[in-house]
Amino acid sequence: MRLRVTRLHGDYYKNVLYPQCNIHNTFEHLFFICPKHAEQRLELSAGVIAAYKNPLIINRDSLLMPPSGIAPVVRLHVFKFLRDTGYLDKI
Ligand SMILES: [Zn+2]
Repeated sequence: MRLRVTRLHGDYYKNVLYPQCNIHNTFEHLFFICPKHAEQRLELSAGVIAAYKNPLIINRDSLLMPPSGIAPVVRLHVFKFLRDTGYLDKI
């Protein structure tokens, strides 16, 4: 996976100013905080929770490093979130 080179890695995202919130965008902001993407976040959460089949805290690890058995499904949801939020072409 390209975690070390994609701008989604927090270290590489620091200089991207997110216009609507007027803050520096980070993985945490996009995936967990930004109010603009609340609807997409709900959909992502539902999909990821269903994939894990047990209660979990959705965080960077559960999104980016899922167990191999469910990784394809979790990644589909992560990519859908990125596509729906307009970020897929920016990674
Ligand atoms: Zn925001």
